[in-house]
Amino acid sequence: MDIKELYKIYQQHPCITTDSRDCPKDSIFIALKGESFNGNKFAKAALEKGCSYAIIDEKEYAVDGNDNIILVDDCLTTFKEIAREHRRHFDIPVIGITGTNGKTTTKELVSAVLSTKYNVMHTEGNFNNDVGVPKTLLRLDKNNDIAVVEMGASHPGDIKKLVEYVEPTCGMITNVGRAHLLGFGSFEGVKSTKGELYDFLKAHDCLLFLNESNDDLVDMAQKRELSRIVTYGQTDDANVMGEVISCAPFLKFSWTDLSSTDSKAKTYEVQTHLIGAYNMDNMLAAITIGLHFGVEAEKINSALEGYTPDNNRSQLDVTKFNKLIVDAYNANPSSMSAAIENFKVMDVDKKMAILGDMRELGEVSDAEHQKVVDQLKEYGFKEIWLVGEEFGKTNTDYRKFNNVEEVKEEIAIKRPEGYYILIKGSNGIKLFQLPELL
Ligand code: ATP
Ligand code: MG
Repeated sequence: MDIKELYKIYQQHPCITTDSRDCPKDSIFIALKGESFNGNKFAKAALEKGCSYAIIDEKEYAVDGNDNIILVDDCLTTFKEIAREHRRHFDIPVIGITGTNGKTTTKELVSAVLSTKYNVMHTEGNFNNDVGVPKTLLRLDKNNDIAVVEMGASHPGDIKKLVEYVEPTCGMITNVGRAHLLGFGSFEGVKSTKGELYDFLKAHDCLLFLNESNDDLVDMAQKRELSRIVTYGQTDDANVMGEVISCAPFLKFSWTDLSSTDSKAKTYEVQTHLIGAYNMDNMLAAITIGLHFGVEAEKINSALEGYTPDNNRSQLDVTKFNKLIVDAYNANPSSMSAAIENFKVMDVDKKMAILGDMRELGEVSDAEHQKVVDQLKEYGFKEIWLVGEEFGKTNTDYRKFNNVEEVKEEIAIKRPEGYYILIKGSNGIKLFQLPELL
């Protein structure tokens, strides 16, 4: 069955499930595979539970004479192709966002800004991979004026594959940094993979939103001779220029629309609810995209001021005992360095950090963890707890814990009190279990 026919079936049954435990009546079940499951095995059960069709890719699960079981070559490819076919029914701007750090935050901020004027469909949570992106595209409906789609990558070629389904009409890379080095091989590998978005924008003459202060991104855009560009950054040759005012602890910054035709461009101040000076870049991206799509400055500012993260990213938790900067959801050398840099300039006293290993760094892991402890020492931090095997190997006098359980034991004996505590590490280290104890 070709994709047009499959899409017709989808139009008659516009609900796809990939989870056989959740089979809404009249939906289509697609049998995806993971490391520990094979959806094909559940196709028959999905039909019994109410799905109208089951799409499978292993012949042995087909049932003779049952036309509701559709055999394809590869279910994931079919899923993505249906999503692309669906996306092609919408002649609306689709903003593609990728980058090493800040994709979700930027996506949320862009969506908050655009939602003041438009009906926006945006990636939910962190659904930014091979399965999450098609799911997102399938949520497009006729009420949407604009879409904001986050795309993640951990291997070369990942973004190329995703953009070919998303077909963004414009896009941006938040930044390129040292993350997933195990999958990418090197920083150059990160750059060329993220650059696959620029390749697409160039090939389709689409607009790029570019952080003019980021030399890597500027270089990548120049190499590809991208010409349709709107810029933002901390330099006065950007279209939208921003300046950090303070981080005490929340980021406050100012911005000016230098491309405005008014002879005296107005400067606005924004008091955010985000921790981290690095979030100004994410904010400037949202401002630039908002202005491009005709959102008024005042509305942009109130959307940004009203945005409060609730996802363990750049968030401040005030407990009875401490003030916690909880960033326990992800960590890589670039975001770790940005978080430490920010913690250093934060205008508060009594600082302490509990830092967990940065996972997936491959052969540079030892060196990258050592760089972190060296940076902490250079900045004069005293109260540092390091958690995990990788930090365990570093050469330092800071306190070390093998795992989060040991940290919990220590807190049970003597809880730190009266501190600003930065909590950051890869999700696998489970530092997210600590805030309720601190
Ligand atoms: P993921 O790869 O998990 O989808 P992401 O790119 O969506 O991550 P966010 O979830 O927005 O990124 O932010 C994760 C963390 O990255 C933040 O908590 C913060 O530590 C860091 N971060 C966010 N924005 C930036 C930035 N512009 N520069 C450096 N680090 C950042
Ligand atoms: Mg994300």
